[in-house]
Amino acid sequence: MANINNYDFKGKKAIVRVDFNVPLDENGKVTDDTRIRGALPTLKKILEAGGSLIIMSHMGKPKGKVNPKYSLSQIREDVEKALGTPVKFVPDCAKAADEAKALKPGEVLLLENLRFYPEEEGKPVDIDKADPGYKEAAEKMKALQKDFAKTLASYADVYVNDAFGTAHRKHASTAVIADYFSAEDKMLGLLMEKEVQAVDAILKDIKRPFTAIMGGAKVSTKIGIIENLMDKVDNLILCGGMTFTFMKAQGGKIGNSICEDDKLDLALDLMKKAQEKGVKLVLATDCVAADAFSNDADTKVCPSNDIPDGWEGMDAGPDSILAFREVILPAKTILWNGPAGVFEFEKFTRGSKAIAEAVAEATQAGAFSLVGGGDSVACVNKFGLADSVSYVSTGGGALLEAIEGKTLPGVAAVK
Ligand code: AMP
Repeated sequence: MANINNYDFKGKKAIVRVDFNVPLDENGKVTDDTRIRGALPTLKKILEAGGSLIIMSHMGKPKGKVNPKYSLSQIREDVEKALGTPVKFVPDCAKAADEAKALKPGEVLLLENLRFYPEEEGKPVDIDKADPGYKEAAEKMKALQKDFAKTLASYADVYVNDAFGTAHRKHASTAVIADYFSAEDKMLGLLMEKEVQAVDAILKDIKRPFTAIMGGAKVSTKIGIIENLMDKVDNLILCGGMTFTFMKAQGGKIGNSICEDDKLDLALDLMKKAQEKGVKLVLATDCVAADAFSNDADTKVCPSNDIPDGWEGMDAGPDSILAFREVILPAKTILWNGPAGVFEFEKFTRGSKAIAEAVAEATQAGAFSLVGGGDSVACVNKFGLADSVSYVSTGGGALLEAIEGKTLPGVAAVK
């Protein structure tokens, strides 16, 4: 497989799929440029090696229609500044042939939002799934998606995918385009390579003991991952809002705590599976309960299976924190996804902070730790510990699907 480190980019035009889906304020100014910075190593490497760049990305959900609110022209200057070289904006990503042809080594084009074309996602936009004509429209769109991908491919000699955030999507620019390049002329970018290696470290090159920490609001959104991890981990901490589904399933009293009543059997089943597989399951046995879902609420510590009426579990309690530390500190591989409490409220950050600190301590002692998927990244950032773990993933859905054991189309397409 071609590799960005040994590919000869000299005189080559590289079309690079990045994830520049950055947040903008109401004036169209970038409020967080993490994603732009994330792609810089790949982009700079290609320029330094004598290549030229055609950068493409999506932004937001314009649903296949041109919408100035999601125009990538708003970030052109930011990209220019980050790269330290002029960046020319092309206002129609499907009509960039002339600009691409004229591109010289060291020059950079930024294409307009790919998702202004429904072909990018490859799904019909103006017809409901339930309509009788949907199937035909979907097939037609698949053919149009191939044409669109072919057009994008025609701009360049080599394709690089560095957009981990969309690697779980089979879109024109993330996967279909790869069919129009030979195996020697398509590859993952540096960010993607790091992400893939991080996932391999927790799914394939596991150093034991392996402790996974799954938190967040609901068990229903994490079933696939928990089931896949069950075959791999030594210790599994299940915390956050899902705790109370487990407590209720075992006959506990959970007051007003969040609970998925249709997942009680599933919770019991997961507990049984853990036992059968010899996985040590660590649930938050005590919690900080509150008399309202608010930072100003009155609080008290109580057993997670004996919460008074009118109160709800909002964070892990002190005994739980000790139990979490016990399986995190000796771990040599750690995965953390999802907070242990409603960490958005200062009063209920303790459980998540304790996890972040224990993960950082274990990492210091030699463990490989991967933090990723949604709110756990916000957690390590909030506690200033992002640099104290081995790897913070940039991918939300993509990371979760990878951990579920699914093949990511964006990775498979270039491998
Ligand atoms: P997720 O996106 O599934 O990782 O869930 C993250 C969300 O779970 C955060 O917004 C937390 O506030 C929420 N959460 C964590 N613990 C609890 C809890 N005990 N009760 C309600 N929400 C919770």
